[in-house]
Amino acid sequence: MSKKLEEYVVTIPDFPEPGIMFRDITSVIQDPDGLKLAVDGLANLVKDTDFDLIVGPESRGFIFGVPVAYLTGKGFIPVRKKGKLPRETVSQKYDLEYGQAEVEIHVDAIKPGQKVVIVDDLIATGGSAEAAVKLVEQLGGKVVKMIFVMELAGLKGREKLKDYDVESLIVYE
Ligand code: IMP
Repeated sequence: MSKKLEEYVVTIPDFPEPGIMFRDITSVIQDPDGLKLAVDGLANLVKDTDFDLIVGPESRGFIFGVPVAYLTGKGFIPVRKKGKLPRETVSQKYDLEYGQAEVEIHVDAIKPGQKVVIVDDLIATGGSAEAAVKLVEQLGGKVVKMIFVMELAGLKGREKLKDYDVESLIVYE
């Protein structure tokens, strides 16, 4: 019998800090079967969704967002850390556990009314996903779905994003 997606995820205790159980996706994508399960699984979550574009946050949102965009026949829009994108951008600050971060998107990447799916590797508190939503909405786009390989349900990202359609392939309680 073939392996399930969750069996490709390696959990590293106490990384990057004591007490954190780090769910690693590098062990998923280094195996062709793991990569296929993750990418096909994400594409399957949007098979009945009407949308125009995929938006993926730096950097692991790129790993999964681009192949899902390719499979579904859509374009891919990167959300990047401040200062990386070469054309005119809009930006959004958000809170980290310690301090703040700022992310950007190209202003010409999304046209008002376009329907967007956000793709990332993992949702924890939902802070980075929420920042991506705000960037899309600053440009007049509509977030129709947010999809993740993994969800750390205890950190309640879903509550922060309660107005949105959120789905994950693997949920850790
Ligand atoms: P959030 O903003 O709190 O939802 O954190 C989500 C971001 O943190 C994602 O983009 C992940 O890449 C990263 N992250 C947090 N915890 C983990 C983990 O256990 N494994 C992999 N990435 C993580």
